[in-house]
Amino acid sequence: MRLIFLGPPGAGKGTQAKRLETLHGIAQISTGDMLRAEVQAGSEIGRQAKAIMDSGGLVSDEILVAMLGARVGQPDCARGFILDGFPRTTVQAAALDAMLVQLGLGIDAVLSLEVNEAELTERIAGRFTCRQCGTGYHDSFKRPLVEGICDVCGSHEFVHRADDNRDTVAARLDAYRRLTAPILPHYERQGLVHRIDGMAEIDAVSAAIDDALISVDKAQPFTSN
Ligand code: ADP
Ligand code: ADP
Ligand code: ZN
Repeated sequence: MRLIFLGPPGAGKGTQAKRLETLHGIAQISTGDMLRAEVQAGSEIGRQAKAIMDSGGLVSDEILVAMLGARVGQPDCARGFILDGFPRTTVQAAALDAMLVQLGLGIDAVLSLEVNEAELTERIAGRFTCRQCGTGYHDSFKRPLVEGICDVCGSHEFVHRADDNRDTVAARLDAYRRLTAPILPHYERQGLVHRIDGMAEIDAVSAAIDDALISVDKAQPFTSN
């Protein structure tokens, strides 16, 4: 299956995409994670992206389209992939369409996670992740089962993103409203959009996503190309 998670920053895209990756063995492609890896590595792309990410803006379409194009051709994407954080502009959506046409592939579903802005601010301010495996946590909504130890890999080290502060949230939400929300109608016209109530608790959101995906592929979910 090939899926797209759409939703504002903090809506739960990474949390839900990672769960589907683990459950079904299809690759999660987080462009935010890829950019943070470039920043960490000190690459040219990382140098260009860092200031933009820290200010809550969007990195250029050119960089993102090239990055995504290289990623979807990798072997672990053969069984499908879950896009988390891409496309984020109408230009990126059009580039993705063109890439998929070339590969003879299509998108099976677009999962739109809907969460109100007050809640997003809380989620972003309290978010932290395991440094080793990237599992996401929250100060109030999802603490590790054993304090200070990652549930998944046992690591003791956690990181808080530089851009996850109340100052950048307004800029990120503004970018979402202006540049990303307008791509929804593009997928709505193709009948691909499933609106998911992202305000519910994590497990309830997961259940709603599973229901939506069963309706997409009743016969054999996640086994087809
Ligand atoms: P996104 O990838 O859309 O930016 P995340 O999946 O990183 O969002 O979630 C943002 C924060 O909110 C994380 O700290 C995560 O643990 C928490 N979170 C995710 N889904 C929910 C939910 N349904 N209810 C409460 N907190 C959530
Ligand atoms: P969130 O989980 O809060 O939605 P991400 O981890 O997806 O945030 O992205 C973090 C930052 O990386 C964004 O604010 C933006 O600067 C940059 N970024 C990620 N994906 C894209 C993209 N597809 N296009 C442009 N910029 C991106
Ligand atoms: Zn971990």
